Amino acid sequence: MLGARVKPRLQALTELANVVQGRLPIDELLECVVQHTAEVMQVEHASVRLLDPSRRYLVAARRTGTLMAGQAVEFKRGEGLLGWIVEHGEGLCIVDPASDPRYVSRPGTPRLESFAGTPLFAASRAFGVLSAISEKRRMDEEDLMYMQLIAAICGPQLEIARLSHLTQVDPLTGSLNRRGFDRVYPDEIADGETPTMADPLTVIEVDIDHFKRVNDAHGHAVGDEVLRQVVRILGRAIRAGDEVVRLGGEEFLLVLPDVRLDRALAVAERARHEVEQSEIRVGGESIRVTISLGVAERQLGERRDELVARADEALYAAKAAGRNRVVAARS
Ligand code: GH3
Ligand code: MG
Ligand code: MG
Repeated sequence: MLGARVKPRLQALTELANVVQGRLPIDELLECVVQHTAEVMQVEHASVRLLDPSRRYLVAARRTGTLMAGQAVEFKRGEGLLGWIVEHGEGLCIVDPASDPRYVSRPGTPRLESFAGTPLFAASRAFGVLSAISEKRRMDEEDLMYMQLIAAICGPQLEIARLSHLTQVDPLTGSLNRRGFDRVYPDEIADGETPTMADPLTVIEVDIDHFKRVNDAHGHAVGDEVLRQVVRILGRAIRAGDEVVRLGGEEFLLVLPDVRLDRALAVAERARHEVEQSEIRVGGESIRVTISLGVAERQLGERRDELVARADEALYAAKAAGRNRVVAARS
């Protein structure tokens, strides 16, 4: 038998999990997340806060309840309990939060009985915080686990909705577009920063071979589906935290932070093999394509665009050498 409190919570969770699959626009999704969070957590107040594009401020995206309604409550990254959570990437559940040294009081906040908050992750980056507070109920470790479950269910969907909203995602394939690439990996010169080489970074430029023939033989709609499926295969070849960027047309960039050339070459070869082996089934037809790939690892002091240009040269060397192959960039 389920405990009397467990059943409604699981029902609300299930409903939330179903709703977030529906690719809602960001505003509707946020509203749905805070409402269900308050319900699952059985508290009066829930909120989602997202890091702004500079990733320095947590901005209140949506709140339930009347607590401090109408006030612009912003926290710097690292400030207060919410700032601590996004900075450390860890959840917190605290009774009498005002007595916690990390707590930052805001004018007008009543005495709170308990606080639970958890980071929201997508592709292993914390991009916001989900929190629940109660003036009456004492939340415990079990409650925090519910919060973490909600965050796991909603995190990736929230990030997708947010990125789409900012028009940084390519609608056809779901990969980042160039604008999205600029946001995640700004070119240092364009951004006024000096290139640093603290961490390795490797990129793989991918172009579908003779893609024009696919369009010519099967039509543009089938070509679109082939593009989607190739991106799906590319996505399976990389890890969480890596990115697929659609540079344009049938050209993509895989961005692999903390990866050296030798491992990236293995990733590229696996992707090439997978695409070659895959039968892409569209509307009763079975289509096979191949890809060519150019791989470049960032060199000391190298700008993003210089790195991509070297991957591009390597890709064209792969094309010239007969296609369906991986070529490492000259260093
Ligand atoms: P190569 O092996 O040299 O790369 O040959 P290719 O035919 O792939 O190269 P090319 O650049 O000449 O052709 C790319 C084709 O991709 C032409 C264009 O119609 C098609 N294309 C670009 N964007 C899209 C798209 O969004 N959907 C579809 N279906 N086709 C696209
Ligand atoms: Mg091509
Ligand atoms: Mg091309």
